[in-house]
Amino acid sequence: MDEVVKQTLRQTAFKSLPLGSIKPKGWLRQQLEIQANGFTGYLDEHWEDVGPNSGWLGGSGESWERGPYYLDGLVPLAYLLEDERLIKKANKWIEWTLSSQRENGSFGPTHMNTVNSEVGEQDWWQDFIMLKVLTQYEEATRDQRVIPFMNKYLKYLNQVLPTLPLKEWHEARGADLLLSIHWLYEKTKDPELLELAEIVREQTINWSKIFAKFPYWRKQTQWNHRIHVVNIAMGIKAPAVFYRQTHEEWEKEAVYKGIDSLMTYHGQAHGMFSGDEWLSGTHPSQGVELCAVVEYMFSMENLIRILGDGMFGDILEKVAFNALPATISPEWDSHQYDQQVNQVICNLAERPWSNGPDANMFGLEPHFGCCTSNMHQGWPKFTSNSIMATHDGGLAAISYVPCQLKTTVAGNVGVELTINSNYPFREQLSIELNLTEKTTFPLLLRVPGWCKNHQISVNGELQNTKIENGFVRLEREWNPNDQIDLMFPMEVQIEERNNHSVSVNRGPLVYVLPIGENWVCVQNRERFHDWEVYPTTSWRYALINNRGFKVKKQDITDQPFRAEYAPIKLVTEGRLLSNWAMEKNSASEPPLDPKPYPNAPIATIELVPYGCARLRIGEFPLLR
Ligand SMILES: [Zn+2]
Repeated sequence: MDEVVKQTLRQTAFKSLPLGSIKPKGWLRQQLEIQANGFTGYLDEHWEDVGPNSGWLGGSGESWERGPYYLDGLVPLAYLLEDERLIKKANKWIEWTLSSQRENGSFGPTHMNTVNSEVGEQDWWQDFIMLKVLTQYEEATRDQRVIPFMNKYLKYLNQVLPTLPLKEWHEARGADLLLSIHWLYEKTKDPELLELAEIVREQTINWSKIFAKFPYWRKQTQWNHRIHVVNIAMGIKAPAVFYRQTHEEWEKEAVYKGIDSLMTYHGQAHGMFSGDEWLSGTHPSQGVELCAVVEYMFSMENLIRILGDGMFGDILEKVAFNALPATISPEWDSHQYDQQVNQVICNLAERPWSNGPDANMFGLEPHFGCCTSNMHQGWPKFTSNSIMATHDGGLAAISYVPCQLKTTVAGNVGVELTINSNYPFREQLSIELNLTEKTTFPLLLRVPGWCKNHQISVNGELQNTKIENGFVRLEREWNPNDQIDLMFPMEVQIEERNNHSVSVNRGPLVYVLPIGENWVCVQNRERFHDWEVYPTTSWRYALINNRGFKVKKQDITDQPFRAEYAPIKLVTEGRLLSNWAMEKNSASEPPLDPKPYPNAPIATIELVPYGCARLRIGEFPLLR
């Protein structure tokens, strides 16, 4: 590779829009408000680790990742909702952090920065998260202190990293630092940042190599950063981030190979791979950690920004609409560490995973508190990334969740773009464009991979469209009040899984059999209690092949991710099995040869979206 070429950052396919330019509407706004009225808005008042004694507020308490993780979701939530109470909360942390910078450029709680150059005992990971927080904060506020602060810190890193290299967690998560270095470089064009970026890339685990020839085919049990579910969820974006620096095509390809291998060997029905600490195979009762869910979403948001392939939007939506809501209580006041696709009981019990017996309980900090602090970024960052800008003055719709964007197109023409939708619960939606004047720019519309017969019309006129890289490109002179109508017909698609079992998809939603839930409070606190969830109905159903699915629509309530109020259901037929048992406190693998009880009648069953059901069967045996 030519050195001159290497000294530039490869242009991304799309550009993120500054935090705050996209505002959530409809059910998405409700979801963010539920979050603000639950964990995110009140965690600091009820959980010591992000409470007033946090090291990130100058106290003597927790000083590692938990404060920065919390802020990584609190800051975008506060600015998306323009919620003064939350902005005030977030600003306390930002002010402390900005004022904590030392002469040499380092920042943060002092006891995390006691550099012992002989053994190199320096943990940088918490700083990487805080930089991601600051980039978002700068975009929302244009606070002029942020860029010089980051510059000074990164110059410091440039000096010390050669002798105090990335290790352990930060060695696995260097791509998260590179995102902030790239962000700053795009603002300042300081070539020293690219030198630093190369040092960081070389010191980070070589995720490109791992994903290009994926060696972890089986369930893993040994301590190793390369098979840690959250590191993998973060690491999958690394080859694309590296590719911006190296311009090596094989690194870009490694992303695709990596996702393919993860899904082949560890894939689960909700669109993620398993990991109840380590990659755990395809058994539908293995767990997936909540941190991995939100980090995988963040990776997909970056992958679509860098590589521009709509496929990453498909994965992003599947995880956001299914795995994310399912693992958090509808009121956002308890969450799991590990969720299971076939989750028939959430209680304190030994299960075949490395996490503790409480890992699938709902609570404040089941098993370990990382998810308690890291879960907040999921919906806010998804909202901020639902529309992006193109480099030729246009816009790209990444998802069709209800929202409104205010920005400029074609240089400096003001635009207000509103997505009126109940997507993903409905198939039809519209986009209103409100321009200050007539102007020409490209509008890219993602056509989901599951959609076979999309229809796009502009002002009632059906468009003849061609899909490229997952997007339809409409380039024309737009009038001040144009309207685009989109129809993405959702058909039921049966996905074959292991042992001839199946999962049921319709559009981006996975449909499951909800099991009656009895929530038993086991630890009562002032707020944010711990719960076990016991089944009150049978779950051992097989689906019957070729019985069809009737779509049943219901009103969309303030919290659509709740089994009682599921906005959409699929009605089909099933039979109770006699040979599907509990095993190690979970549902055993769906039987290869499902045997119904001889007298079990054919039952009408109603499937609901995965995200609605905290107890469920998501991977079914099929009676053929
Ligand atoms: Zn976690």
